[in-house]
Amino acid sequence: MARALFLDRDGTINREVDYLARVKDLELIPGAAEAIALAQAAGWKIVVITNQSGIARGLLTEADLQDLHDAMDIALAKAGASVDLYKFCPHHPEVGPIAYRQVCDCRKPKPGMYLEAMAELDLDAATSWCVGDSLRDLSAARAAGVPGCVLVETGKGSQQKKDLTEGDHLAADLPAAIAWILDRA
Ligand SMILES: [Mg+2]
Ligand SMILES: [Zn+2]
Repeated sequence: MARALFLDRDGTINREVDYLARVKDLELIPGAAEAIALAQAAGWKIVVITNQSGIARGLLTEADLQDLHDAMDIALAKAGASVDLYKFCPHHPEVGPIAYRQVCDCRKPKPGMYLEAMAELDLDAATSWCVGDSLRDLSAARAAGVPGCVLVETGKGSQQKKDLTEGDHLAADLPAAIAWILDRA
């Protein structure tokens, strides 16, 4: 079984924008692509886990989201990095057309996307790590059996770090988080 870095997207890999919808607004956190490449060279699978209720809210379509992930792939490839699997939740419990308006099992802090990714890529939860800028990223990972969690101070993390669970690690940004994980694992 492989081990994975489960990475939140907005505020963790790319700069937080309210409901990122357009490729022109996609900007990677400095050093993020290089750090992901380092982890891959060390044998880690890279899984992006992202809540995208902007789809339910009508702010972007699934095709727009695919365009964003294609653009992210191109930006990452410049540093020799790639994403093994993207998982997104398009739902919202109260808003949007019926196809998207549901209480689902995938929207973080639920663990559904992590569990699906583990099944699809045959990942070992116990040796995997999660990095996110929101505490719901970390609680979702923990609910999926991932013990190692790092909160980054980019995005929402600077507001949320005061409520960090004891035992979780705080890092300035994704490059610092990945360096810390590679050092320990
Ligand atoms: Mg985020
Ligand atoms: Zn969902």
